[in-house]
Amino acid sequence: MNYFSTRDTRRDVGVSAAQAIKQGLAGDGGLFVPETLPALTKEFLSELCRDDYATRAAKVMKLFLEDYTYEELLEDCQKAYAPESFRGGAAPLHKVEDGLYSLEMWHVPTAAFKDMALQIMPRLLSRALKKTGEERTALILVATSGDTGKAALEGYRDIDQIKMIVFYPVDGVSRVQKLQMATQEGDNVRVLAIRGNFDDAQTGVKKIFGDAAVAERLDKGGYLLSSANSINWGRLLPQIVYYVSAWCDLTASGDLKDGETFNVCVPTGNFGNIFAAYLARCMGLPIGKLICASNKNHVLTDFLQTGTYDRNRPFHLTMSPSMDILISSNLERLLYFTAGSAATADYMAQLNKNGCYTVDAATKAEIDRVFVGYFADENDTAATIHKVWENNHYLSDTHTAVALSCADKYMTETGDRAPMVVASTASPYKFANDVYRAVACKDATDELAALDELSALTGVEITYPLAGLASRTVRFKDVIDADGMTDSVYETLGL
Ligand SMILES: *Cc1c(COP(=O)(O)O)cnc(C)c1O
Repeated sequence: MNYFSTRDTRRDVGVSAAQAIKQGLAGDGGLFVPETLPALTKEFLSELCRDDYATRAAKVMKLFLEDYTYEELLEDCQKAYAPESFRGGAAPLHKVEDGLYSLEMWHVPTAAFKDMALQIMPRLLSRALKKTGEERTALILVATSGDTGKAALEGYRDIDQIKMIVFYPVDGVSRVQKLQMATQEGDNVRVLAIRGNFDDAQTGVKKIFGDAAVAERLDKGGYLLSSANSINWGRLLPQIVYYVSAWCDLTASGDLKDGETFNVCVPTGNFGNIFAAYLARCMGLPIGKLICASNKNHVLTDFLQTGTYDRNRPFHLTMSPSMDILISSNLERLLYFTAGSAATADYMAQLNKNGCYTVDAATKAEIDRVFVGYFADENDTAATIHKVWENNHYLSDTHTAVALSCADKYMTETGDRAPMVVASTASPYKFANDVYRAVACKDATDELAALDELSALTGVEITYPLAGLASRTVRFKDVIDADGMTDSVYETLGL
């Protein structure tokens, strides 16, 4: 199976899966998509229901990764989804109330769902380097506003033929996030704080990527630049698995009968997670509607309602920061599947030039068949955390609460009573300060104390990767100027 760019209208030569994963972005700026979507047959699905998560993942990914053997994938998945690091099960389904389920993707090394992909993707990349005859070491540079950095560090630590440097804004991440990164283990990783904001860090990384002189010096030193970005196919593919897994669990428990469909509501930022659910649906998983949940930055809600995507609007910082995004990159893949590559190339050119585009009526209708968008503002989010705790004794993080609020709006408005699976993307303890405030209606003593105070108040155990954080050894203390980022790369590699 070959991979093509979302913007490629000629489609005469594609690339292999390994090449797509190694390369990340297509040469024309588009995103890689598989040439066909394999079907999830009834027999295949019922076989998966008897497997553990790692085996389910290997079997589903094998459908797309022809140049990887099943044995390779199974070995990687067993390491990636090992019970030691996924202590509560890889993606358990928690019944909040009749007909409403929370798919908990945060019993993972960094307590947020990006691990579901970032634990396996580095292993796919490491193999991709070998499969494409690459002799250089891949250097992964990441600019992070918090969560991605930690998840990437955990995923790439001690992976063969890969080195990683993470840059974060020294005053732009939370204390918990800073501690999580500064105490990171692994011989092939380094963490640097930047004097500046997230944009400075991001711009610095983009500059390094765009600089031919840097590429040449790295190449001479035996390195090639690569990214851990969420537009990489190797990050998207593993996300299909947990929706399949949720279906297995729903049918096994009898909550979903043969022939019934379920709806999925996803707290959305870059549109990766919900797009994986869409692919699962296209492949035959019996999903009805996909509810795209946004926060106060509701560019996607507006797009799904009007057909116009317009990023020219104020940007808000919210208590669900991983969804504070105005350009949802993976939406390009949905455009490709609904409008085709020529229209996609055109819409993306308009987005680059004017910051907006409007899809044609047929595309809008095709998207409407599956997607519906809602948003929750800051008040809705806090009220939902409070209400779900009071009514259901279920503690949700700020991102999950956005989705719970939107799922509720959807069900109330439409009367659709199909089982609803809400993607729960982070542990409530990752955002303990805001969760505590919402539940207790007062502030915690401070951000670190909030973990213990929330646990004392609710009796819910602190998610293990976050317990004892304050007492871990800090390994990375360096703070540098943003214009010193390139030099710091050379220094790290000894070039
Ligand atoms: C990244 C993230 C999201 C958004 O996921 P996308 O795939 O970018 O849409 C939602 N919640 C949390 C906690 C995240 O870290």
